[in-house]
Amino acid sequence: MKSSRRKFIRMAGFAALGWSICPSLAGAAVEAGPKLYFKGEEQLSATQWAMAVDTKKLTRQVMNKCIEACHTLHNVPEIDSNQNIKWLWIEPFRNLFYDQSHPNLTDMANKPFLALCNHCENPPCVRVCPTKATFKRPDGIVLMDFHRCIGCRFCMAGCPYGSRSFNFFDPRRYLEQLDPEYPTRTKGVVEKCEFCAHRLDKGQMPACVEASEGALLFGDLSDSSSDVRRALRERYSLVRKPKLGTGPNVYYLI
Ligand code: SF4
Ligand code: SF4
Repeated sequence: MKSSRRKFIRMAGFAALGWSICPSLAGAAVEAGPKLYFKGEEQLSATQWAMAVDTKKLTRQVMNKCIEACHTLHNVPEIDSNQNIKWLWIEPFRNLFYDQSHPNLTDMANKPFLALCNHCENPPCVRVCPTKATFKRPDGIVLMDFHRCIGCRFCMAGCPYGSRSFNFFDPRRYLEQLDPEYPTRTKGVVEKCEFCAHRLDKGQMPACVEASEGALLFGDLSDSSSDVRRALRERYSLVRKPKLGTGPNVYYLI
């Protein structure tokens, strides 16, 4: 079979599978790499997507709005136990930055901040996944292919930020409302924030950013005129556990 025909059949297979693979795989194939990454007309693109969290604007009300927007849109269930699923959650400063104590920051120890997957430059979760269910796109987004996940949880052990959740139960049983535009998961599958890759594909910003009243900024780290780069130029910022060398792409503006 000619290679062009093989490629066509392969891509047609991905298109037919559509949501059944992963929400954002309309924009990226399973073996994500430059050759298989194709853009739609509306798609927002970047060399490296990044988020900046303006901690001065993070009120409890804003954080709850962000979490609700994210979890509603992605069919993330609310399970009242330590086996809850979380894509975006609230954590006190001292937990997020316990390795970066600074005399000027001690008054912030109990201040609540938002936490999510850092879409790391060198993501250990991707390195340890034996099935490539978790992979990094050329634009820096670290994604999950729910159907490839065998539930071994190596990625959870590999992530030093606790950014991944495991479905101990069928999550659909805990959903009060269902967004039909996003796939639900099954028992035994790992999940996490996907930087709203499926919204970027449609030309939209992440849901949490839209709900954040300016507390969350999102943009291309390699574009010096992007909101994120501008904020990083103007403000002091922290990333979580920088000594580990994972290269987090979520910045906290202090
Ligand atoms: S924060 Fe954790 S899950 Fe997210 S990319 Fe980094 S290592 Fe992977
Ligand atoms: S970027 Fe999207 S998936 Fe990630 S926390 Fe925000 S709303 Fe949720």
